[in-house]
Amino acid sequence: AEAALRQAQKMEAVGKLTGGIAHDFNNLLAVVAGNLELLRKRVPRAEGRIEHLIENALLATRRGEGLVQRLLTFARKQELRPSSVSLPDLVMDMRELLQRSVDANITVDMRFPLNLPPAYVDANQLEMVLINLVVNARDAMPNGGAICIEGQCRSATLEGKDCNREYVVLVVCDNGCGMTPEILARATEPFFTTKGPGKGTGLGLSMAHGLAEQSGGRLQVHSTPEKGTTIELWLPLSTMSAEKHDVENSENSGNHA
Ligand code: ADP
Repeated sequence: AEAALRQAQKMEAVGKLTGGIAHDFNNLLAVVAGNLELLRKRVPRAEGRIEHLIENALLATRRGEGLVQRLLTFARKQELRPSSVSLPDLVMDMRELLQRSVDANITVDMRFPLNLPPAYVDANQLEMVLINLVVNARDAMPNGGAICIEGQCRSATLEGKDCNREYVVLVVCDNGCGMTPEILARATEPFFTTKGPGKGTGLGLSMAHGLAEQSGGRLQVHSTPEKGTTIELWLPLSTMSAEKHDVENSENSGNHA
């Protein structure tokens, strides 16, 4: 868990660096592209050769924009090593760390049913995401409040998926300041932050979103201004437990037959 905190801090540093460079680089590219466009308009039609050179330079600026985009993607995506993870165990192991990450006027409640099936997810990434979610909740409650970390087993047909499936859902909710619809709409965008320079990186929710999507699940954000925020990380059941389920079911039906 300490390693996860260090990793989260490192990601924060990388995020700040990459975000800053990418932003400046994009501005430079825009200046170059803008000037090239102007130049192209001023070149007489007959000068085909020059027009061609300008066209090449413009193409290069577009490739540059593509590179910046990939850099941004790299900053928030890492190779995943999923395994069968017990959410209650993972969260309980992080209990002290999480408690230390919030102020004394914030309570952290944990609710996990005993029979919660394991999720199939990268444990290290999940730890980082959980720290980020708890820190976000803390930042939303400068005057104190309550954070609830909950595990649930729910079945649903997620948007874009073709069938109804069971998921393990990690829910982190707070009764903090909440988000306006405008902020909510942009919250999972990489580098979107309302926390001001040097404070937020805008990578926390985008990482959570990336982890959920890459794991075959979903991130859902519900928020009401002045009421609070609920973040749901839907994760697929570990195949091992899914298979066990099937075996148990077929054994049961066998017994009944
Ligand atoms: P960061 O925390 O570095 O700003 P995030 O991607 O984690 O980056 O969050 C993006 C933005 O979403 C935050 O700046 C904040 O405006 C909003 N946000 C995230 N979590 C919460 C929360 N629990 N309560 C209120 N606003 C939140």
